[in-house]
Amino acid sequence: MTSPGNARPAHPEPEADAMTSDPDASQPSRHSPITTPRLTDDDYQRIFDTTHNAARQTVLTVARELGAQLTSQPANPTADAPGPDIEPLAGVRAAKELERVSWMITHDYMRAAREAGHSWHDIGIALNMLEGSMTGNMHEPVADTAYSYAAGWTPESSRSYGTAFTWTCTTCDQAIDDYGPLHGPAHDEQGHASNCTRHTQAIATWAAEPQPLAPRSASAEANRDIDWEAGG
Ligand SMILES: [Zn+2]
Repeated sequence: MTSPGNARPAHPEPEADAMTSDPDASQPSRHSPITTPRLTDDDYQRIFDTTHNAARQTVLTVARELGAQLTSQPANPTADAPGPDIEPLAGVRAAKELERVSWMITHDYMRAAREAGHSWHDIGIALNMLEGSMTGNMHEPVADTAYSYAAGWTPESSRSYGTAFTWTCTTCDQAIDDYGPLHGPAHDEQGHASNCTRHTQAIATWAAEPQPLAPRSASAEANRDIDWEAGG
């Protein structure tokens, strides 16, 4: 892993005159019509309960692998049927491990989604993340937020310094370095075969639609500042 403080931009931005800009295109029309399924409060509660129960069981399993001691003091006394629990520091370690591995699994599915042809916007909708939640830029498109989440080195780190998200193009069978939704597939998807029809189609689709590049370029610069300040 290269620390952000020493890294160099591996994927410089294209010349400004290679881009078109439309100040009214804050939500580009190239986004496919994938939307979040409409869920009721009961649906959300059921999904949360299922996830919470499964995660807690996994934490307890991992903690046992860590040799954790049982305790009669539950970590969350208000939970239903708390029962015996594990000592707190083992719980912290096990739960953090679950978070890290969960992110890796999410990463696998995000890669599969790109390989299946879904856009960063589609992935952002599926992630159900708030715009800017990775970068602090509340005005960025959800596609940028999704890419930042994918390109980070950990669940907490956001994109910077030309970090690529890699996947395999199922059309040309080449490994693709994906630099996100900022400048279009001609610049941001590196590695396609020269005769890849998927890439050619993606470039044509991008070129036919308005681009909101000016504010998003500024946000990318802001992201770098945030990473510098965070010390990587
Ligand atoms: Zn390809």
